[in-house]
Amino acid sequence: MNDYRKLKTLLEAARDIMVFTGAGISTESGIPDFRSPGGIWSKYRPIDFSEFMTSEEARRESWRRKFATDTVMLQAEPNAGHRAVARLVELGKCSAVVTQNVDGLHAKAGVPQARIVELHGNATYATCLDCGQRHELAAIREKFQRGEELPDCVQCGGIVKTATISFGQAMPVVAMARAQEAAERCDLCLVMGSSLVVYPAAAIPLLAKRRGAQLAIVNREATPQDDEADLVIHGEIGPTLAAAVGVN
Ligand code: NAD
Ligand code: ZN
Repeated sequence: MNDYRKLKTLLEAARDIMVFTGAGISTESGIPDFRSPGGIWSKYRPIDFSEFMTSEEARRESWRRKFATDTVMLQAEPNAGHRAVARLVELGKCSAVVTQNVDGLHAKAGVPQARIVELHGNATYATCLDCGQRHELAAIREKFQRGEELPDCVQCGGIVKTATISFGQAMPVVAMARAQEAAERCDLCLVMGSSLVVYPAAAIPLLAKRRGAQLAIVNREATPQDDEADLVIHGEIGPTLAAAVGVN
């Protein structure tokens, strides 16, 4: 049996699929991932959370990067991979889409927000780190581009940051708990487009596997969890999923 057929068979047999995605599912939508050649890290060194908190210059640099790359992310459209995931949800086969992505493309493809677990937050808005107040990017952008003025919270004066999780920042408690529940409940974990090296997110597929679920990985490159998986396809996500789920 070829790999597409194997994936199709696994998807058909599963009753409760947890999809787990990383930046690789969005590269076909034109958003660079982190670790591939030409990815974000070939251009930018990551700014970790403590640096963001303690240095105004780091905050400025972080907003500069945000607004330099934002148009690509906000204008990106879902691709065949996102559409296949939405189809699995629509068919009632997939109860949770756990994602490390912050681009909002699973929702844009039609997955109901209640099924999406955003482990690393969302880059389409900002929040106050003290009181949690939501802040829209358009207003922050306008002020910042006038004189690199840093946003602060109108409610409490706290530091405002995009609603994403940086290295060194605490994981969102509710999202982690929902991801763990999904991992414990599912009978198939389908990983797509993640290098599976960023923890604690990368522990979620392993948890599913150890609780008895099958593990399938679709990724261009090898991952540290390939040896644990029941099926590994080293290929492009869009065409692979389109063939296995029957979307285009
Ligand atoms: P990563 O960059 O570490 O790994 C992406 C993986 O996807 C790589 O192994 C690569 O070989 C593979 N890949 C890329 N395009 C592919 C394709 N078309 N088909 C098949 N495989 C493909 O990404 P990660 O594991 O998600 O890393 C973690 C961090 O990256 C996350 O914290 C996430 O928040 C952040 N991130 C998100 C976005 C986004 O929201 N789109 C973009 C960049 C980074
Ligand atoms: Zn505040």
